[in-house]
Amino acid sequence: MAATKSIELRTAIPGPRSKEILERKRRVVADPLSILVPIVIERGQGATLTDVDGNTFIDFTGGVGCLNVGHANPQVVDAVQEQAAKFFHTDFTVVPYEVYVELAERLVAAAPFSTPAKAAFFNSGAEAIENAVKFARAFTGRPAVIGFEGGFHGRTLLALSLTSKTHPYKAGLGPFAPDVYRLPYPQDYRGPSGAAALAALERALLTTVAAEDVAAIVVEPVQGEGGFIVAPPEFVAGVRAICDEHGIVLVVDEVQSGFGRTGRMFAIEHYGIEPDLITIAKSIAGGLPLSGVIGVAEIMDSPGDSAVGGTFVGNPIAQAAALAVLDVFESERLVDRASAVGDVLRARFLEWQDRWPEIGDVRGLGAMLAIELVEDRETKEPAGDLASSVVEAAAEGGLLLLRAGVYGNCIRVLVPLVISDAELDEALGVWEDALETTLAT
Ligand code: PLP
Repeated sequence: MAATKSIELRTAIPGPRSKEILERKRRVVADPLSILVPIVIERGQGATLTDVDGNTFIDFTGGVGCLNVGHANPQVVDAVQEQAAKFFHTDFTVVPYEVYVELAERLVAAAPFSTPAKAAFFNSGAEAIENAVKFARAFTGRPAVIGFEGGFHGRTLLALSLTSKTHPYKAGLGPFAPDVYRLPYPQDYRGPSGAAALAALERALLTTVAAEDVAAIVVEPVQGEGGFIVAPPEFVAGVRAICDEHGIVLVVDEVQSGFGRTGRMFAIEHYGIEPDLITIAKSIAGGLPLSGVIGVAEIMDSPGDSAVGGTFVGNPIAQAAALAVLDVFESERLVDRASAVGDVLRARFLEWQDRWPEIGDVRGLGAMLAIELVEDRETKEPAGDLASSVVEAAAEGGLLLLRAGVYGNCIRVLVPLVISDAELDEALGVWEDALETTLAT
């Protein structure tokens, strides 16, 4: 095997200590918290993590897209330690703190709004979605919410009602929140086209829910869990036009696509339209739980006093981390880095697509890229088991990968953007070996 620089494997995967802890986990942790990668982490650094058996992996999962600045980024660690030594918590609405205000100032300045904008902070992506809908309902005085097939918006009741993947997320867990409607999301590979998806939306406003009852349309510009599907520009422009025509609030969910992942700070910047509200989470605070809604001030101001909030929302330690994350983005030019990483990934994926017919599609924006595996190029029958085998083989070679897609047949990249060129090359070598082992050449 070729000499490696970052990956170092000392045991079979999983190693004995990981196995032992996972066996303890089985006895005391609820089963739904099932494990995708059967190793137990000891520490992480940049784009690598080391498990309790001393094996070091390159991490393309990035904590499901939360680690754009890398594991244990030193600037983030310093900011967290400094803030932790001052105070942990007050509840911002009881005794406020400057770090909240400063983060709002910086994010409002970074977000693509040409009119006055404001921010509010929460803990998880799901909470950001729940609150975006609250802002939209308070502003419009309307009940209904429209989302899209294949969308993922979280696991709390309203967010789960919007989430559009039955297994494993929704099956058996209803009833769901009323007045939530889902329509087809466009995609080049499997259809429908942008025009057909827009027509379905227009038709739903005639057949299913009246436009004047719709508070918000919630859309991911690039679907994350749905399989890194990039919305065509004409679709996004059309949704914006429908929202304008009917006074509907356009909520862009950037929980996964935000913070540089697509080669812009926010994926919606690729489209040249302004949303009304943006939800953010995941990579905002370098791995600490923090989320937010940024949006048009008039909409953000519309719920009554205390209608939005929560004991822990906008935690100062997470916010200090978020300010450090923004500093790292500037000093290390991570948005540009995402484009460069994306170029390297895409070129390699296209080579693989030429070589293996099972790679039906290569898609994404910037470093938010995925491959889709199929049994047959013509029929496009999804090959979820093949994707699982590739992910497993890659883990055994020291690369951690994550699947995506409603059929679970896509393999996505959520690598920390601080990955070095050498690590990227090394990781792609392991991935290629895993494809070689799994697919017929
Ligand atoms: N929205 C999108 C686009 C997501 O990808 C996710 C999580 O993967 C969420 C919302 C929910 O975020 P959380 O898991 O932090 O609640």
